[in-house]
Amino acid sequence: MQLTRRDFLRASLATAGTIVAANAPFKAFAAQESGKKRWFKGNLHMHNQWSDGNAMPEFQIDWYKSHGYNFVCPSDHNTFQAENLRFKSFGSNPKITPEISKAFEGETSLWKPMSCEAVTNKLTQEFVKEAQDRFGEDSVQMREVGGLTFVRMKTFDELAEQFEESEEFLMIPGFEQTGGVVDKRAVHMNFIGVRKTFPFPKNYEDPIALMSDTYDQGAELYDGINYLFTANHPLWRFYDWNPSALIQNAKVRVFELSNNGIHADFKQHPDGWKPEQFWDVVNAWRASHDQQLLLAMGSDDRHNYATPPKAWTRVRAEKLDQDSLINAIMAGDMYCSNGLDFEDVNFDGKTLEVKIDVQEEGDYRIEFYGTKKDYDPTCKTFETQEVKGVSPHRVVETYSDQIGVLLDKIEGVEGSYTLKSDDLYVRAKIVKAEDDGNQDWRSKPAAWTQPYRS
Ligand SMILES: [Zn+2]
Ligand SMILES: [Zn+2]
Repeated sequence: MQLTRRDFLRASLATAGTIVAANAPFKAFAAQESGKKRWFKGNLHMHNQWSDGNAMPEFQIDWYKSHGYNFVCPSDHNTFQAENLRFKSFGSNPKITPEISKAFEGETSLWKPMSCEAVTNKLTQEFVKEAQDRFGEDSVQMREVGGLTFVRMKTFDELAEQFEESEEFLMIPGFEQTGGVVDKRAVHMNFIGVRKTFPFPKNYEDPIALMSDTYDQGAELYDGINYLFTANHPLWRFYDWNPSALIQNAKVRVFELSNNGIHADFKQHPDGWKPEQFWDVVNAWRASHDQQLLLAMGSDDRHNYATPPKAWTRVRAEKLDQDSLINAIMAGDMYCSNGLDFEDVNFDGKTLEVKIDVQEEGDYRIEFYGTKKDYDPTCKTFETQEVKGVSPHRVVETYSDQIGVLLDKIEGVEGSYTLKSDDLYVRAKIVKAEDDGNQDWRSKPAAWTQPYRS
């Protein structure tokens, strides 16, 4: 099957509704402006026992704080860690008898039963003990009722009270809107900066309309709140949605370039898009249609805290508070990393200048990527066959190699690129010099600036 980009979009644009440019315009930031700002390290996508992460909430938050992070959003699946009493959580739905209801009268928060024959979930003795070892035996409230051991989860506000520290560590409320379209392709989106959840829309046949409606429902519900919407892990479980979803949803400003839970087998499908190319496909389209560019975030989406995080985001802001961070993110004053850091990133409207923050001796390379105005926008698709237990059947988009080309590279720790008249945009990526330069998002360690255009 082959169709041009125009053909491909024509039919669906008719049903996808009006494309609206949302939020602040993409702004360049000047060098002198960044003087009093700091780079704050954070992660806005993670899970704990409130949903299906294996760490107790306090163990999770403490992990980030004690590992040099400045801000986090414990974005549990379809849940905000609020005060109201409940027993049910993602993956855990115990039978609540009148005896249990009575025993917890007047209580608050989520009381999750420990995993046993009657209840299977991720809350085991091991994770309770992990928190007790760190914070003391009495730090975890537990109660035996009706043959079950219930464990109380700390609420968002209790965690904020315990861990927040002015200008050092901030907690941002939010949740991951988790669900899928009718054929089970997963469409997950984070709402960051909000406390109220709403039901995941059902019965959609494609991710594009589902994402658009979820975005719109959020915009209505959170009117007046400065919050962030992110489109999560398109590659998970296996090419679950394609670049066209973010071409048709131009209102979505941020996606996850790097996320822990990625399983697609690039070797098996060398023609399938990779996350960096996904990003360039969307931005080539947006830049050539004068829409706001797609920004990239690094998230670890961690469920298992025994393994190290694989990605994070640094945001440059004057103050460590929710508004300053969200404003900086929406202005593109952030970068995505899986191991390297920028000391400085500046764009004056024409020239992108970057400087690597060298923390480990070695040789480094700066790579500038972009797309030329006369690029070939053709979209082709291919189908993958279902491999039982490994990967499902998918329709995967593929695009021209003219999208996301290497514009220049500099061996060293400082460099710049000035936009040429035929460039749509430019972005920089930094890697160790031994990296073969052709690994897309799997380059490690690496860091990625946002895309910039005149
Ligand atoms: Zn997810
Ligand atoms: Zn997640």
